Amino acid sequence: MKRYSAFAIAREAIRGHLGWERAWANPEPRERYDVIIVGAGGHGLATAYYLGKNHGITNVAVLEKGWLGGGNTGRNTTIIRSNYLQDPSAAIYEKARSLYETLSQDLNYNVMFSPRGVMMLAQTEHEVRGYKRTAHANALQGVSTEYIGPERVKELCPIIRIEGPRYPVLGALWQPRGGTARHDAVAWGLARACSDMGMHILQKCAVTGVRRAGDRVVGVETTRGPIGCDKLGVVVAGHSGVLADMAGFRLPIESVALQALVSEPIKPCMDVVVMANTVHGYMSQSDKGEMVIGGGADGYNNYTQRGSFHHIEETVRALIETFPMLSRLKMLRQWGGIVDMTGDRSPILSKTPVEGVFINCGWGTGGFKAIPGSGWAMAELMATGASPLADPFSLGRFREGRFIDESVAAGVAH
Ligand SMILES: Cc1cc2nc3c(=O)[nH]c(=O)nc-3n(C[C@H](O)[C@H](O)[C@H](O)COP(=O)(O)OP(=O)(O)OC[C@H]3O[C@@H](n4cnc5c(N)ncnc54)[C@H](O)[C@@H]3O)c2cc1C
Repeated sequence: MKRYSAFAIAREAIRGHLGWERAWANPEPRERYDVIIVGAGGHGLATAYYLGKNHGITNVAVLEKGWLGGGNTGRNTTIIRSNYLQDPSAAIYEKARSLYETLSQDLNYNVMFSPRGVMMLAQTEHEVRGYKRTAHANALQGVSTEYIGPERVKELCPIIRIEGPRYPVLGALWQPRGGTARHDAVAWGLARACSDMGMHILQKCAVTGVRRAGDRVVGVETTRGPIGCDKLGVVVAGHSGVLADMAGFRLPIESVALQALVSEPIKPCMDVVVMANTVHGYMSQSDKGEMVIGGGADGYNNYTQRGSFHHIEETVRALIETFPMLSRLKMLRQWGGIVDMTGDRSPILSKTPVEGVFINCGWGTGGFKAIPGSGWAMAELMATGASPLADPFSLGRFREGRFIDESVAAGVAH
């Protein structure tokens, strides 16, 4: 693979940009692979990437029923933070955040990581107490956050109305090295690196069945024919229950639509990410100038990629309270993704009852930020059978009552 560099751009500018290679290959499927990953979202691609990079396993195929990054990875609002309360969560999200710091260099692909700072507004006394507690927990976990007062909030984000009509801003949990990254670029950069290691990324290849010999996986049925494998990683977010059903086990997962919207582009007016959980709305400004606005999850299970209309109204109403200048903006577009929710709002990275089948799901409304950490841990689990980052998130926790309750950190915020 030719490396991207300032020199390469100059060379191609002179040659009329005719010398660029395809970023990833488009091969025909082999009969079998050592490892098959189902789902070419960020988590599936990161798993493949770290299988190759950290464990030298490169006879790998990533099977995608649509186009890579076309699921939630290409539909999210790109917030990256690691200010979670429980130790196992802080560990995996902070691992991911720290990997994001150098991901562009590691992949030789600009993922546009922008550590502009994330603030979660405290708008009730209960939230003030909760966020102070999280700041103390983060200090013990080695995650850099601080609790800040309303004056500092206003200084960091001048367009906020501090004395909101229903809920004044009392303070915020501030993570200065949280931020955003370009979601498509994360998927494309990982895909390019996987392809460069000789892995196969097979798009338009839906898995329709899981082939077993007794309790062991031996391959999958796909729309491009049967393919054999020794190990199977299921990394399909909102379709996890469907794939688990094919393999013959059940998951404690519900699928619901979560939606987002963007405004028309405007001049730069906000250079931090703000989340307001009490009124439920969160916002950042993209490099194109659009205000990127996250909405709520539907209150009922579904597999639509739209979301319901009343959420748009609720979200915009909440944000106008906090940012009155938004009332004069037009909405440009709105979309949804199918998110996979567990009862404790924490992910599942685990072996399964079928030998050789591993599952990575349950990232729900907040898994974009976790992509590199999740891939790192899942690859370790698949290659070695155990991973300190993944082990607390095993399926066994639901049987044993070892819940990792992140309903405050992840149930609403993303
Ligand atoms: C509106 C919205 C806003 C969000 N905002 C944030 C945010 O700000 N910050 C954050 O951290 N997270 C956010 N998230 C969550 C985040 O997007 C997800 O947790 C993350 O992208 C999940 O990645 P994934 O790789 O697991 O899933 P996906 O990207 O959905 O990838 C799964 C892939 O599996 C494929 N697949 C499914 N079934 C099959 C099959 N049978 N065969 C082959 N392939 C199959 C799908 O086509 C899909 O491409 C948001 C999500 C949404 C929807």
